[in-house]
Amino acid sequence: MSEDDPRRRIPRTDQLLSDPDLTAAATGLPRAHVLSAVRAAQELARRGEIAVEDVLEQAVRELPSREGSQRPVVNATGVVVHTNLGRAPLSDSAVRAMVRASGYTDLEYAVATGRRGPRGAAVLTALRDRLPSGHAALVVNNGAAALLLAVTALGAGGREIVVSRGELVEIGDGFRLPDLMASTGAVLREVGTTNRTSLADYADAIGPQTGAVVKIHPSNFRVEGFTGGVDTAGLSGLGPPVVVDIGSGLLTADAALPDEPDATTALRAGAALVTASGDKLLGGPQAGLVLGRPDLVHQLRRHPLARALRADKLALAALEATLHDDDVPVTTYRSADPATLRLRAEWLAERVGGRVRQHDGVIGGGGAPGVLLPGWAVALPAELAVPLRTGDPAVVGRLESGELLLDLRCVPPSSDEAVAAAVLAAVRVAEG
Ligand SMILES: *Cc1c(COP(=O)(O)O)cnc(C)c1O
Repeated sequence: MSEDDPRRRIPRTDQLLSDPDLTAAATGLPRAHVLSAVRAAQELARRGEIAVEDVLEQAVRELPSREGSQRPVVNATGVVVHTNLGRAPLSDSAVRAMVRASGYTDLEYAVATGRRGPRGAAVLTALRDRLPSGHAALVVNNGAAALLLAVTALGAGGREIVVSRGELVEIGDGFRLPDLMASTGAVLREVGTTNRTSLADYADAIGPQTGAVVKIHPSNFRVEGFTGGVDTAGLSGLGPPVVVDIGSGLLTADAALPDEPDATTALRAGAALVTASGDKLLGGPQAGLVLGRPDLVHQLRRHPLARALRADKLALAALEATLHDDDVPVTTYRSADPATLRLRAEWLAERVGGRVRQHDGVIGGGGAPGVLLPGWAVALPAELAVPLRTGDPAVVGRLESGELLLDLRCVPPSSDEAVAAAVLAAVRVAEG
């Protein structure tokens, strides 16, 4: 570092810790949290990403909020169900339902009789109402828990779970569904090959030892070319119960996502159970859905593991509200009108500078790999990425070929003004 390197002037840790502005903002916070906020701000200055004069202000901003350390983020990536950004944003009605459920409630209490009542009965009714008649529903902690419970219950006693080699998928962060299924103690009987599995492959593997046939939707990749699988209708003719893990949580078919499986179609085709997530295309809270044959759903509900995997009252409240809302953010964002997105991008570019260009959004980890959602973005200098991410509000865009793209698809229009202000603030930081 040369003599006049501004990094020499980064305020020292003890100086920052005793600053009255910081101590006031940090009242009541554990010292370790304050220290890590200070270190994070110093590190940004050391990397030249903020000005030395702004270290104190940045340290205050890095302090965990009293409302928790999760920071709201403006999702300007164009990825609708972004797992790293908390998946589905909840609708206003779901948020209100969670707040309402946050105190004492009649979760498992019948006010009329003063006795114990069924937990989450209304959400199960709301789910059943969206399915072909004669099916039952159960809500657990997440999609993985739904599959775990189904495989545990149907594979109990060393029974075999038959699954195609083409469906042994990793769902992210190193978690693999075959490992999850094997962890239950059930015997996995893999059939077919990576690209092709025939009805005969399944039929050859099935016998008195079979507990279930599991069909998993490869929701985050596509195999193209010489491929072949067996549909749910074909599998359900084989005898053992067919569990279909659709992943995304679409309850009925959607013409805009023709390759995305849905619960209604799978049940009509003879699936005994369907498992899915609550916070992907369904647009609700983290939850896992088990839908299907009433006797099997009952068996799963009474399994000891069900108690360990059950959904909490806040998730049940939010899920119920989501099911009654036909305009949840995930649906609004994935079907956003390209012409409107273009006008908003032009408005933003006019306010902050930058070039408007075409940019396709995607559904994301939630499903529909390969489906492009046509739209627009504002291209800005890549140097703005860090100040935008660390600003308030944090704005996360996409870095692509040396540019920062801001796509307003998943930004509520009421936040456009805040995004423009954040970009202008980031420009000032970058100009340092
Ligand atoms: C996402 C997904 C899961 C896991 O669901 P979580 O709700 O994330 O636990 C399981 N199977 C498939 C096919 C998925 O797409």
